[in-house]
Amino acid sequence: MKKLIFPVFIPMQGCPHRCIYCDQSKISGVGEEEIRTQLAAARSFLDRHPGEPKEIAFYGGSFTALSLEKQHSLAEAILSSADYKTSLRISTHPLYINADILANCHKLRISCIELGIQDFNTAVLKASGRGYDSETALNACQLVKDSGFMLGVQLLPGLPGSSSTENTLALKQIKPHYLRLYPLIVIKDTPLETLYREGKYRPLSLDTALELCADYAELCENEGINIIKIGLPSNLNPADVIAGPWHPAFGELVKAERLVRQLVLAIKAGMEIKLDKKQRALIMAHSGRYQAILQKRLENCCKNPCQTVTSLLAKS
Ligand code: SF4
Repeated sequence: MKKLIFPVFIPMQGCPHRCIYCDQSKISGVGEEEIRTQLAAARSFLDRHPGEPKEIAFYGGSFTALSLEKQHSLAEAILSSADYKTSLRISTHPLYINADILANCHKLRISCIELGIQDFNTAVLKASGRGYDSETALNACQLVKDSGFMLGVQLLPGLPGSSSTENTLALKQIKPHYLRLYPLIVIKDTPLETLYREGKYRPLSLDTALELCADYAELCENEGINIIKIGLPSNLNPADVIAGPWHPAFGELVKAERLVRQLVLAIKAGMEIKLDKKQRALIMAHSGRYQAILQKRLENCCKNPCQTVTSLLAKS
């Protein structure tokens, strides 16, 4: 039976780091009252699903960087009314992972740990103000897995100086249980906004970000890694986006990119193709963005790409 997941957001108040893409003032603006309300909602969720496998997920912060007292009080607020089918999931920073911390996580009935790795390249991590290097990131991932937890990894494609080479190798080596991809955008009032305005940082274009995420999706499929999210977190205010590959249907566009890749290969191989309704809609959505891309990619292998695409998309 699939696990039900209920999220509780605990932004990391007083975070000691200075990641260049993060607006700390917004994070510290979230109060205890709001967290208490979310915990009460989580308990109601537990009451509504007795006997079903379920997780309360503490997202948005670095759970293991909180004081032990705070970690216990958050976990206890849930576990006091939880049945035996309930476990906890947390997101945290790779600097706050070691054997003692993980032993405590076991005590708190945490079964899944998601690490905000963001990139596996030391120079990229340094330029982004993350405060750790590639080795620390890899070790944290390995320790989480070896200690019997389910491991999730978050990556931010598009960090300054980033390329997918090291991330691809690391994912193949670590094989996390799941991956989240949040292509980097420039958020208002962050150090990254200053770099962008000074011309020192250039975000990924939407096309490049989509291609990159499709590459990751293919890699994950081959490696048996589940991708559970591609695109920005839903709690982001679009008004705060200054620049970068932002699109409200980013995940859907990645699916279209992957479909177009498969179609080009099939057409080149002379295969007969029949699209279903969903696939046609995927290609034609967003003003035919991927219809135009498919046509362009067929230019070198097809006598009449326009006609090929039109007949492919025609209803049968
Ligand atoms: S993104 Fe970086 S600066 Fe922002 S809360 Fe997380 S660790 Fe702290």
